[in-house]
Amino acid sequence: MSRSAACAIVGGGVVGASVAYHLAARGVRDVVVLDRAPRAGEGSTGRATGGFRAQFAGATEVQLSLLAREKLRRFADETGGDCGFVAAGYLWIAEDDAQLDALRAALAVQRANGVDDAVEVDADEIAQINPYLRGAGVRGGTYCPSDGFIRPLQILDGYRGAAERLGVRFEWDADVVGFDRGRDGTIATVRTKRDEIAVQNVVNAAGPWAAHVAALAGLELSVSPLRRQVAITAPTDALPATMPMTIYAGDGFHLRVRDGRVLMLIPSAGGADPFDVSVEPAWIESVTRVARERVPCLEAVEIDRDACWGGLYEMSPDGRAILGAAPGVPNFYFANGSSGHGVMHAPALGALLAEIIVDGRATSLDVSPLRPARFGDADEPRSTELL
Ligand SMILES: Cc1cc2nc3c(=O)[nH]c(=O)nc-3n(C[C@H](O)[C@H](O)[C@H](O)COP(=O)(O)OP(=O)(O)OC[C@H]3O[C@@H](n4cnc5c(N)ncnc54)[C@H](O)[C@@H]3O)c2cc1C
Repeated sequence: MSRSAACAIVGGGVVGASVAYHLAARGVRDVVVLDRAPRAGEGSTGRATGGFRAQFAGATEVQLSLLAREKLRRFADETGGDCGFVAAGYLWIAEDDAQLDALRAALAVQRANGVDDAVEVDADEIAQINPYLRGAGVRGGTYCPSDGFIRPLQILDGYRGAAERLGVRFEWDADVVGFDRGRDGTIATVRTKRDEIAVQNVVNAAGPWAAHVAALAGLELSVSPLRRQVAITAPTDALPATMPMTIYAGDGFHLRVRDGRVLMLIPSAGGADPFDVSVEPAWIESVTRVARERVPCLEAVEIDRDACWGGLYEMSPDGRAILGAAPGVPNFYFANGSSGHGVMHAPALGALLAEIIVDGRATSLDVSPLRPARFGDADEPRSTELL
């Protein structure tokens, strides 16, 4: 027997769970989340390291962060969960004038959009904020003490639990394999490998797999997977848990401490299979070398090779989220393409998409820079690679 839903959300990661919660909180009944995984957290959300920052170069990303931060600060009241937010700060390091100019330009955008505590710092101030760095080569940087760390799976769990209490159904092992359109061209039915659901609305929240889900509906979506590898040390007290996330603007190397171990990342090329998340031994060697050059106390710390992991960013062409109805199909919505910032922005994206679906437009923020149809526009500003 076929069944129905007011809204089917494809993907039960942090973005899908946030959309589900915010729809239910706005009074939408009969929301179902369909995920092909056997349990929550199997997609990118479970592989994220949990950084949160308002230090972006684009005004829209800064605004998304501020809206998300406000919601994370009252996450316990809103969902009953613990998002694990710790304001340990983010420290960006420039090693030459060009990098410093880029950080200054981003800082101006941040300040203009209300990030009042982001500041430029010189080499001496950097040495005080993070005394573990080798000072040589540090030209300057920016620092924002209210940036910090969050717990991706706890945010997913918080939204999922709160959504379930409002009546949302999460179905695991529910692979979405197709959509059928009605006579007016809108989506009428979602097909899973088990059954069919007649729907009023569909949300694509399929993370790095979003283009495939869109294609099942006959829609084009420019979201591609990009592998990110994470190296992790054995347990160590070489660096304190309070050390800010520290990022080198030139090559994107960054490190932080989580649960008594140091996490280290540096961007690398993807594998031959774009969905491959294996970790390359040569990459571990190179990130370890870079880490030990820049943070001398790591020289004596072992890497836990078996615990290193890989995951996928969900890249859009301009590095910016894609939010709103698909062009030409008004009941198929995208919540995609966060390009590696999906955990920190999920609280904002879920609230904004609920406004779009329930009210017909987002009222908390101007989300026109995120409109799905923007990629044909000639003069759309591009977000920078790292910031
Ligand atoms: C190494 C690494 C570090 C990161 N660090 C950070 C960070 O510090 N801060 C930050 O904000 N972000 C970070 N990210 C990015 C972040 O993980 C993502 O932006 C975020 O998790 C995206 O959430 P999502 O819900 O869209 O996707 P996902 O969590 O991937 O969820 C998508 C879900 O869709 C399901 N699905 C796919 N296809 C189908 C289908 N056909 N039918 C049914 N279900 C389907 C999948 O099973 C999956 O559960 C990091 C990512 C990586 C890889």
